[in-house]
Order: sequence, then structure tokens, then C-alpha cells
Amino acid sequence: MNHLSRALDGNVDGLDAPPPLDLLQEFANTLDLEGQLEELDSPAALTEWCRRRGLMEAGVGLSVSDLEVAIRAREALRRVALAHSGHDDLAAATAELASATAGARLRLTADPAGTLSLEPVGSPLDRLLGALAAAVVQGGLRGTLVRLKACSDQRCQWVFWDASKNSCGRWCSMAVCGSRAKARAYQHRLRSQARLGVQPAELNR
Ligand SMILES: [Zn+2]
Repeated sequence: MNHLSRALDGNVDGLDAPPPLDLLQEFANTLDLEGQLEELDSPAALTEWCRRRGLMEAGVGLSVSDLEVAIRAREALRRVALAHSGHDDLAAATAELASATAGARLRLTADPAGTLSLEPVGSPLDRLLGALAAAVVQGGLRGTLVRLKACSDQRCQWVFWDASKNSCGRWCSMAVCGSRAKARAYQHRLRSQARLGVQPAELNR
């Protein structure tokens, strides 16, 4: 079952990340590992993705090499999310993300009220990388980036927003990946107890 069909079934219990982290979550989830669905399967698909999010004006497009850079940045984002759920090394993951987004270009802009913000500038690819970098930095400053996690089910790795009180969420969906992990743990206990000659009724005590 892929994530689209889960969503249609109403089984996705994870929340969308708040802006600007929603951009990172959506970008990382352009690949559905378990469903083997790749949304960014061509430069045109990446261009369309960027246009839908206001990162690119009409009349410009991205190249095959741009797509390669963008995919590298996406996989680095997934590594950081995996590190937040304890499945990758945070220092290595963040170093890879910094390297993968090295082309990012940003400038400070000031609004009439005197508020400064980071605006991506440069080529279409520079702006995509800039938007990702700006979101990462803002999430880091607010302390919210660590709540962007990848599902602990290694077949899944869907990036979700951990809204739990103690930031202890492990799965994109308790109804799917969480219950699957519990079922596996139960089967594992059954097998180990069977080897020790314990009756199934004695489990769960
Ligand atoms: Zn999952």
C-alpha cells in the first residue's frame, strides 16, 4: 500500500509540518519508497513541482543536471529526518545536506514593518536550493526542525511531522507502520518464548 492509497483510506494520522518546514516535508516525500513512486522522474516534473510552490516563474525550466542536484538534496533531507528519528548519524547527515545545497543563494529582504527575511535568488535551481536552505535554518532557529522525522519502518521512511508531546513519535502512521512494528515485535516474542517452552497465553504479562 502506498501513501496515496493510505491517505484515501483515511489512515494517515500524521500531520503536515507547519510552514516553512512543510516545504521540506513535501519535497522529501516526492519519493514514496514503499510504493516505489517517484514524482520527480524528469526535469519537467521537477519544474512543475517548483512552479506549484511558487519557486519558479513560467517560461523557465530545469535541466537533467539540475534534477540530479535536486535529488541529491532531497535524499540528504531524508537522511537528516532519519537522524532525527535515530536512524542516521546527525553530523554526517547535516554535512551531506550542507554540501548538497551548496548552490543555494539567499539575500536578506526587509518589509515595510522592518522585518527581515531570507529570499532565494539566482537561477531556478539556486532558488530551489535557497528555499530549502532557508526553511532548514528557520526550523533550526525555532527548534522545530528536529520534529521533522523519517518513519522508523525502513521500508517506508516517509517524512512526517512529529506533533507528539514529548517528540517521541517513531512512525508516519500508527495505524500502518506502528501496528506493523508491534505485530513484528509480538511475532518475535512468540518465537523466542516458543523456544523457551512458554505458552502463548503467558505472553503480554
Ligand atoms: Zn511509515
